[in-house]
Amino acid sequence: MDYQKVIDRIHGELLELWGQGKVADYIPALAKVNPRQFGIALITLDGQEFLSGDAGVCFSVQSISKVFTLAMVTRHIGDGIWKAVGREPSGNPFNSLVQLEHEQGFPRNPFINAGALVVTDRLISLYPHPKDAILEFVRGLCGNDDIYYDKEIARSELDHADRNMALAYFMKSFGNIENDVDILLDVYCHQCAISMSCEDLARAFLFLCNRGTNPLNGEQVLTVSQAKRLGALMLTCGFYDESGDFAFRAGLPGKSGVGGGIAAYIPGNLSVTVWSPELNRHGNSLIGMEALERLTTDIGNSIF
Ligand code: GLN
Repeated sequence: MDYQKVIDRIHGELLELWGQGKVADYIPALAKVNPRQFGIALITLDGQEFLSGDAGVCFSVQSISKVFTLAMVTRHIGDGIWKAVGREPSGNPFNSLVQLEHEQGFPRNPFINAGALVVTDRLISLYPHPKDAILEFVRGLCGNDDIYYDKEIARSELDHADRNMALAYFMKSFGNIENDVDILLDVYCHQCAISMSCEDLARAFLFLCNRGTNPLNGEQVLTVSQAKRLGALMLTCGFYDESGDFAFRAGLPGKSGVGGGIAAYIPGNLSVTVWSPELNRHGNSLIGMEALERLTTDIGNSIF
């Protein structure tokens, strides 16, 4: 399979879709990003790398970080996390408050903001220096020590975190947040502001592609069963109220972020990350979703 040819062709074809989506602007620092960028990195489990467009440009991973924090917490407390957060698709926007009231502060899944806040809260309880621990974990996954928080984006999100604060306080009123909400929001806004390229992210997701073991260094990050579960959650919940549509179109476990990135993989085969900042109305990269649909169609391979 000539992956380079496939991704270069997709890159060329997608340029006609510029302008149909909109960059996230509820975090002012994200609104400053040049919308007309596109990158794709595809890395096979046997170590071949294929890059096209802006695959080396760093961007804000945003909600893709929710996979990293869930993996970290799972390593420590395993199934314990499911006492605090569910694992069903929400069918609601990522920052919705509505469902939480009906479900008494128990978020539907770890990838909507409410669920991710609970996961980060438990991470804070587990690690004395949570922000350092997150960076160390992500650097280890992709083998790049040059990964940092984008301080400007973290600050900008913290300054506009009213909705996430509301979610956290609301859950705390039900006893589902253990730590101080200001500390929780500081860590959460930093994890969302991790700056990585498509190439870094495609490497960082190789451990999931490889049943929990990082092929870059042989480290078992998760057990086979934990990796299976994380992938299942990405497939069913990774795109908020568009998760079904992404599964339908691309047929891959994946996770999106409002920075415009999408990390996805074919188990036992390859990891692929796309990035393009213009979002559709669900907060997922418009061109990124299209690129992954075309990729799995063109290569005739997905999880189905
Ligand atoms: N930092 C963003 C927020 O909490 C993450 C949302 C996303 O990427 N979908 O609103």
